[in-house]
Amino acid sequence: MQLPHPELMLRIWEDGLYQSSLEKTVRLLAAACQTPDLSLVSQMSIGERDARLLQLREWMFGRQLKNMSTCPVCGQTAEWENRTEDLRLQAWPLEPGIRTFSITTDGFDIKFRLPHTVDMANAMADPRYREQQTIFNGCILEVRNQELAITPAEIPAYIREVIEKRMSEEDPQADIRMQVSCPSCKHQWETRFDIVNYLWTEINNWAKRMLRDIYLLARTFSWSEKDILAMPAQRRHHYLQMIGT
Ligand SMILES: [Zn+2]
Repeated sequence: MQLPHPELMLRIWEDGLYQSSLEKTVRLLAAACQTPDLSLVSQMSIGERDARLLQLREWMFGRQLKNMSTCPVCGQTAEWENRTEDLRLQAWPLEPGIRTFSITTDGFDIKFRLPHTVDMANAMADPRYREQQTIFNGCILEVRNQELAITPAEIPAYIREVIEKRMSEEDPQADIRMQVSCPSCKHQWETRFDIVNYLWTEINNWAKRMLRDIYLLARTFSWSEKDILAMPAQRRHHYLQMIGT
């Protein structure tokens, strides 16, 4: 995996203005993984996807993460900082791909995969998708009870719990939670860290800054957009300082 060139990043950002956050995230990761196979990328587990996004974030904007959350009791904004290494719970494999797992317990043999971006997109498009536990059932590739094939819907609740626990253990990066304490009323609550939204907010700001820098440099030096984007960031920064920005 590598950081896409700024020119490609700008194109992904621009195309992404007309796409859902999940669609543009798949496109970004496909570029980073240097694969044209969007289907493969959209079927990597949520944990693997988010671990890769955290790495991209570190390469693009550094290790320091600024977070904020509004106190549900008094409405005060709590702000705190993390480092990317504090939130890294899972390594990502060299090549993106679909991993499968199996469990044998109490006469049941289950083969399953982990939830992925397509599942999330389906759930966002249709709330019933989640209510009907369709995501879970869709992750069950094969299930047998005493060697007889049964449907995912026939899995008893206690076996379902075993599978869900294993899914969480295999994909810890999929659910990052933070404990927050209100600086005003001391109320404590839990908030979820969503790397997809976090990173796209930053990329959006980066793209606008970049367009402004291109405009200023092109206007002053008559350089082309392509040449300005090809410059190392540090050199671009020095030129911007010379023209007093
Ligand atoms: Zn409060």
